[in-house]
Amino acid sequence: MCGIVGFAGKKEALPILLDGLERLEYRGYDSAGVAVVSLDGDLQVKKSKGRLSVLREILDTQSPLSGNIGIGHTRWATHGEPNDTNAHPHVGQEGKIAVVHNGIIENYLEIKKSLIRKGIVFSSDTDTEVIVQLLEYYYRKKSNLMDAVYAVLNRIKGAYAMGILCSDNPGQMIAARKDAPLLIGYGEDGNYIASDVTALLAHTRTVTYMEDDEVAVITADDVQIFDRDRFQLEKEKHEIEWDVSAAEKGGYAHFMLKEIMEQPEAVRKTISPRLADGEIVLEELRDAKELMKNISRIYIVACGSAYHVGMVGKYALEKMMHIPVEACLASEFRYSEPILGESSLVIIISQSGETLDSMAALREAKRRGSKVLSIVNVMGSSIARESDYVLYTWAGPEIAVATTKAYTTQMVLLLMFGVYLAKQLDRMEQEEYMAVTRGLQELPEKISIVLSDIDHYQKAASRYFNHNSVFYIGRNLDYALGLEGSLKLKEISYIHSESYAAGELKHGTISLIEHGTLVVALATYEPLVEKSLSNIVEVKSRGAEVIAMTTELTASLIGSQASEMFVIPKTHSLLQSVLGVIPLQLFAYYVALNRGCDIDKPRNLAKSVTVE
Ligand code: GLU
Repeated sequence: MCGIVGFAGKKEALPILLDGLERLEYRGYDSAGVAVVSLDGDLQVKKSKGRLSVLREILDTQSPLSGNIGIGHTRWATHGEPNDTNAHPHVGQEGKIAVVHNGIIENYLEIKKSLIRKGIVFSSDTDTEVIVQLLEYYYRKKSNLMDAVYAVLNRIKGAYAMGILCSDNPGQMIAARKDAPLLIGYGEDGNYIASDVTALLAHTRTVTYMEDDEVAVITADDVQIFDRDRFQLEKEKHEIEWDVSAAEKGGYAHFMLKEIMEQPEAVRKTISPRLADGEIVLEELRDAKELMKNISRIYIVACGSAYHVGMVGKYALEKMMHIPVEACLASEFRYSEPILGESSLVIIISQSGETLDSMAALREAKRRGSKVLSIVNVMGSSIARESDYVLYTWAGPEIAVATTKAYTTQMVLLLMFGVYLAKQLDRMEQEEYMAVTRGLQELPEKISIVLSDIDHYQKAASRYFNHNSVFYIGRNLDYALGLEGSLKLKEISYIHSESYAAGELKHGTISLIEHGTLVVALATYEPLVEKSLSNIVEVKSRGAEVIAMTTELTASLIGSQASEMFVIPKTHSLLQSVLGVIPLQLFAYYVALNRGCDIDKPRNLAKSVTVE
């Protein structure tokens, strides 16, 4: 959520900031702004509500902000409507200090009131403004910027990643973080800060991840990082493997479509390093047997689509491992007093590795003595760093807000984890194990087969895009799949859509089915196909128009009842959802395209949700 970029170097800062913000715009796009300090200490700020393109247009009509040091921000508003005044950077009333901030300052009202009593005049509704006003206040008293920064950090409560500039120190940028992502990049022409590595790939791939309570002082030639007690730290540098083209559209109309089409490769990269001679090898979990000795329950904790992966995991892992598995929403889990302890394993799933609710759940689990395994896509992210075990999805950068390849690779990895443990713990027959591993090997190829049917899904979307309400139904693994299909549709096309366990319809929801209601019926989970067929007949008898998805094996059975068929290749029934999600992604994509929606940047949403 919200993108921050900063540069201190030997070149003009503005083009670097704008380029970085463009790459970060998927994190928030309510408003955008930049601040640049010239060598003689002139602090210049431009900001505007709306997309980055609006800011660019304003900047184009004016003489450029000139200077070799600057900070930029693209906002996802939490406090105060998205307008020009609330856009970042915020500047103190003396006009000396500028701040960009990601996160929420929880005690901002109390600080704001006390500053107002001291005569300080606020101009915005944001929580962020208290940071900059307080900074200027302490700076006036202490005459030392770092003293003032530490005084502010000791006073504020909440989550923040921030970049700070001061016109009295025109060669210096200060960064600080707590519970919101921020990293430092080391380039040839200068040094950088960014919320996300994608903003820096065009300039450098050498980075250091800032950790909670750290403060960095960054100049063109030097980076110094301090802990909360102001001791200087020696921090490790990391080389990022992603290259800049991975974070570009490469000829596709949208990142989402590009990322859908990248799934065979992303799944192959996730699976193949972990398969040797037909055996699953999870190097990361060499001590799996030891780990599982006392485990009697698994919690899979995540948000949004990653939670839907957890639902797939709940059904599949219970079948494989014969152990209770619960899928939990991270935002609920942390406050629900779950039964945690040494006998629980907590699996956290997060693409960015920075999802705040998931991070909080992780900390709660560890505090209560549970081991935590995480499935994340971003190396070195906070969740990865704090987990006992990490399994990385090798999906590459995911830019579209609506997840596709991260979801698929998370699911594949969670299933591999289940199969691996089931084998280690002697809970899966050898024959079954061989069948699933063979299925895993064939997955990338089978995903490509589904994708080759893209025209079919495009046509189906152009037939159905005018519906205002869509129901997804399915049983067991198909129910979990429907949750994701429904979310994909609503988040990018804004069509009201819900997903139900098919057997549950008759307990209430069937009252909503009337002539012409669109129902997407998922019948890919072979053991329950016949039961699903009965549910399809039930809704059809009440006038529903049915799109049915099933495998080639049961296509003729299901086809007799549907107006539209999505037929996918058959794979092992525990892996079927990996193939099943692809048509649902393409259908949602083309429906949204037909409706003229802004697919990569859907209304009110942002990627990497780092606020509660
Ligand atoms: N809470 C701040 C605001 O509403 C920062 C939001 C963000 O992370 O973009 O301006």
